Amino acid sequence: MREQLLGMTTPVLAAAFAAVFFALWWRAGLGKHVLAFGVSFACAAIAFLATHLLPTGSIYTFHLTHAFYALSTATMVWGMCSRVGRPAYLGVQVSIYGTAALLLSVAVMTSQDAGPRLLIVNTAYGAMFLVGMVSLMGAPRRHVLDTLILVIAATNVADFMIRPMLQLLAEGAIPVAEYRQSIYYSVINLVLSIKALSLAIVLVVACAHELMTAMRERSDRDALTGLRNRRAFETDIAGPLMLAQQTGVPVSLVIADIDHFKQVNDIWGHQAGDQAIAEFGQLIGSMTREQDIAGRVGGEEFCVLVWDCPGEAAEKLAERIRSRFAQHLVPAIGESVRLAASFGVAHLREGESYERLFARADAALYRAKQNGRNRVEGDRRNEGEPAVRPAIGTRVAA
Ligand code: GH3
Ligand code: MG
Ligand code: MG
Repeated sequence: MREQLLGMTTPVLAAAFAAVFFALWWRAGLGKHVLAFGVSFACAAIAFLATHLLPTGSIYTFHLTHAFYALSTATMVWGMCSRVGRPAYLGVQVSIYGTAALLLSVAVMTSQDAGPRLLIVNTAYGAMFLVGMVSLMGAPRRHVLDTLILVIAATNVADFMIRPMLQLLAEGAIPVAEYRQSIYYSVINLVLSIKALSLAIVLVVACAHELMTAMRERSDRDALTGLRNRRAFETDIAGPLMLAQQTGVPVSLVIADIDHFKQVNDIWGHQAGDQAIAEFGQLIGSMTREQDIAGRVGGEEFCVLVWDCPGEAAEKLAERIRSRFAQHLVPAIGESVRLAASFGVAHLREGESYERLFARADAALYRAKQNGRNRVEGDRRNEGEPAVRPAIGTRVAA
């Protein structure tokens, strides 16, 4: 009865966790690694069930359970690694499985002691987790969850490689027919239940964290261009601006506005206008670095906070974007026409607020518009001059 209860706890737990991960993958649209977690727990549930229900004397039972445990381990390692963009070395995993299966065949044919079989398969799972652990060590640990997952992988390496050996040394030979009555069997069920439970909890929390990050990302992104929307842009620049003021790292603000955009909508239609905005945004995104912060702050207005970059270099960056966009083909507008954009650039001054920096860059943009458009203007205004431009509607028409 005792072993019946213990034996069924682990597969039921594993099946329940598999269902949770399948649901998370299916309903929440999380990545394939979450599907892999589900497959891993499902395979583990099948393997636990087979261990518990199939006749232990059969030569196939150990092979069948080994196949499912190995599949469970490989998919878990793959999920953990691909979650952080690391390789899981599936070729190595398959080789480990194959070698263990071969040794297992020999052990099954030559001995009625369960010990050698248990040592072979457990060492194989430990080695598979070791491959995953080494791969995970190469990934940056951005969150405490990343560290926890690495610790879990390391615990599995230690558990699979050390526990069976110590336990078999203490317990001595276990005749295959009495495997389920052994202390080893009770202990392994308990250990596996605890490991499955803690692993599942950490992975579910990691999935919830991922889901929240994805939702935040979605609400921060402008759907047309994939850049930050205005709110996210203003939130995200606050930290770097403060850091720049404290450390003296030079930062500049670039504001860009597509020229004569109303005419684009009027002549080619709103959808063509949308395509032009999307392509200009993508161009800006692709021409700025990861440490720069780019956003769509208005209809066809974009801002980039250029990190570690004095005004003159930022003007050069703006000039490169301007020149690329002036040659860029927007398919909905046609071969024969190219759009253009104007740029205003200002370099952050000591003690300056974002509002004042923005006003200076915006005034430079206004000058670019006044001076003929399709150009870049830096802020060369003296501090004393007014920084605010007239409202957009009062601009001088081209
Ligand atoms: P200027 O050269 O002075 O910038 O002239 P402009 O015509 O581009 O003037 P302005 O920058 O004021 O024009 C903004 C226009 O952008 C007005 C609005 O109809 C259009 N617009 C704003 N958001 C969107 C959008 O999401 N899609 C499209 N297609 N048009 C938009
Ligand atoms: Mg415009
Ligand atoms: Mg505008």
